[in-house]
Amino acid sequence: MERKNAWLKYDEAEMKACMEYCEGYRRYLTASKTERESVAEAVKLLKEHGYRDLKDVIAAGETLKAGDKVYSVNMDKTLSAFLIGEEPMEKGMKILGAHVDSPRLDIKQNPLYEDMEMVLLDTHYYGGIKKYQWVATPLALHGVVFKKDGSRVDVVIGEKEDDPVLCITDLLPHLGAKQMSKTAGSVIEGEDLNVLFGSMPVEPAEAKEDETEEEKAARELAMKGKVKANILNLLKETYGIEEEDFLSAELEVVPAGACRDLGIDRSMLMGYGHDDRVCAYTSLTALLSLEKVDRTCVCSLVDKEEIGSAGATGIQSKYFENEVAEVMNALGQYSELKVRRALANSEMFSSDVSAAVDPNYPGVNEMKNSAFLAKGLTFNKFTGSRGKGGSNDANPEFIAKLRRIMDENEVSWQTAELGRVDEGGGGTIARYMAEYNMQVIDSGVPVLSMHAPWEVVSKADVYEAMKGYTAFLKNA
Ligand code: MN
Ligand code: MN
Repeated sequence: MERKNAWLKYDEAEMKACMEYCEGYRRYLTASKTERESVAEAVKLLKEHGYRDLKDVIAAGETLKAGDKVYSVNMDKTLSAFLIGEEPMEKGMKILGAHVDSPRLDIKQNPLYEDMEMVLLDTHYYGGIKKYQWVATPLALHGVVFKKDGSRVDVVIGEKEDDPVLCITDLLPHLGAKQMSKTAGSVIEGEDLNVLFGSMPVEPAEAKEDETEEEKAARELAMKGKVKANILNLLKETYGIEEEDFLSAELEVVPAGACRDLGIDRSMLMGYGHDDRVCAYTSLTALLSLEKVDRTCVCSLVDKEEIGSAGATGIQSKYFENEVAEVMNALGQYSELKVRRALANSEMFSSDVSAAVDPNYPGVNEMKNSAFLAKGLTFNKFTGSRGKGGSNDANPEFIAKLRRIMDENEVSWQTAELGRVDEGGGGTIARYMAEYNMQVIDSGVPVLSMHAPWEVVSKADVYEAMKGYTAFLKNA
């Protein structure tokens, strides 16, 4: 079952379409380095395509009808967009669900400290990272700070060309013999992921000409904490925030810089957070390309997947179910039973990335059941670990139908497992949506260097994913 390289099937026009589509994705990814930014960028696109906020529809007491387009945002970190179909919702929806949170370093609640006349920010990592990848590389700070009066301050440091960047320093190899003998998992410890934030003290007191040793010591003692004082002054001047305001902040340290073309042939993209914003963008734009559908089509972008999908903004929250009920109510189709039927009769793509085979590390894969770069949208029947533990396992009836839809629409697609049996494993949002008794399968873009600060995808796979998602939504 050899799969063809997707690049080989493109004529000039489709090659151009693929490259242009990926330009849009590149802009989206560069602007979307946190879940909040990803949702805000998605809302911009939704509004451009005539989608309205469900809250406004409800507040105005309007009735929805087939062809209407609405979206709903949950806590600025989760989003669901609905294109209302001709058929009643209880017949089921077509759902594309991706996550917009990515592995990163979160700033602690009480982060700021001075050590050896340098100021550092203490972090707590989020999601599965190789900690050693985050040192000695330019980092940016993104997020929000809420002050006691409820006002919000948006922070982005390290992205504009003339912005300063931040970093976590590493030991020089000359003194690194002991460090280098450790295993990769412990060579950089979580508690040592401290971000260098500044090093300039406030103006020191003048030394007297005939200063005694005691006076000198006293003067130097008075300078302790003066770098931190300087940083706090800067934060106050620039953002109007004080040290206590970190307590109600959500600040994320991410790699600094834009998503860029990769390879001399420009066939790939290197960027931060392809997992899973590449599936978020392809899912969203698939929905946006449609106007009239039989089944109601939904794109849901969720938070917290990387830490188990828990919390009010994770897929395990009741938020999605509530919004389905709201939409059905606005359609005049609400009853508890009908909501349950709508969910149970739905079909869903859990749009999430797959691990692409890496020529540097072929040993972790079983090649017949692995995803390859440029071979298209990748279906994972199951995920999990140790004998499929904790996984959704898609039904063959559903897969047969998807094979037909993908082939009829000339989508390049492949199937994969996450590595060799017992090599490792992972999970997605699929299992949680399957609890509604709907048909769910994992499907997404293959990624190299997944969860590294800079991940790699093939533009052909990005384009094929969009085509595959669109075909799925269109074909009931
Ligand atoms: Mn993912
Ligand atoms: Mn992930």
